[in-house]
Amino acid sequence: MTSFVFPPSPRASIAVSGSAERFPVRRVFCVGRNYAAHAREMGKDPEREPPFFFTKPADAVCDAGGTIPYPPLTENLHFEMELVVAIGHGGADISPDKSEAHIWGYGAGIDLTRRDLQQQAKDMGRPWDWAKGFDLSGPVAPLVPATRIGHPTKGRIALSVNGEIRQDADLSSQIWPVRDVVSLCSRSVKLAPGDLIFTGTPAGVGAVGPGDLLEGTIEGIAEIAITIGPRA
Ligand code: MN
Repeated sequence: MTSFVFPPSPRASIAVSGSAERFPVRRVFCVGRNYAAHAREMGKDPEREPPFFFTKPADAVCDAGGTIPYPPLTENLHFEMELVVAIGHGGADISPDKSEAHIWGYGAGIDLTRRDLQQQAKDMGRPWDWAKGFDLSGPVAPLVPATRIGHPTKGRIALSVNGEIRQDADLSSQIWPVRDVVSLCSRSVKLAPGDLIFTGTPAGVGAVGPGDLLEGTIEGIAEIAITIGPRA
């Protein structure tokens, strides 16, 4: 048995819908620009850009339902409502038609983004980590097993701020559907049980501040709510 110089940090995990068991998180991958209208609002041409990935630290994800402090170093905190895929069986070079066999379940997540730091990073050719991977930057609602809901490829994905709808789209408008996202990710890295993939956000992203209530829904899958708290 391995002996550590101090007790290792607890494993990051996310609640499972209708269960006391939790989903242990290994790695967190995120797709950039997977809805054409969002790519356009970010100043990009969705016809010309292949999908790309970035990551968040495993312990940046957290259970939704509570309050997330407004993070430091930003004046422009954005929400990005996303379908989250939870990997249950690992593998490399997974073909799109085999992807579903690797998926344990699905959830609703919000890819919180320090948009001003992201813009600086883009302008200066620097990494996105500080914009995307801050503490508590990935709240995820209780995950739902595919054994219960199957593998949805369509359904409304929407987010409101203080009751006002800000994002409203359909999963079927993803440029790269889940089966392709899992396949593409697995060509670059070997996926393993516990990996989460945030599959991109539709148009309508925007800034929020302390006291704002964010409520998201993905039809037939999950609902998510968080409140932005005072500055950390
Ligand atoms: Mn995102």
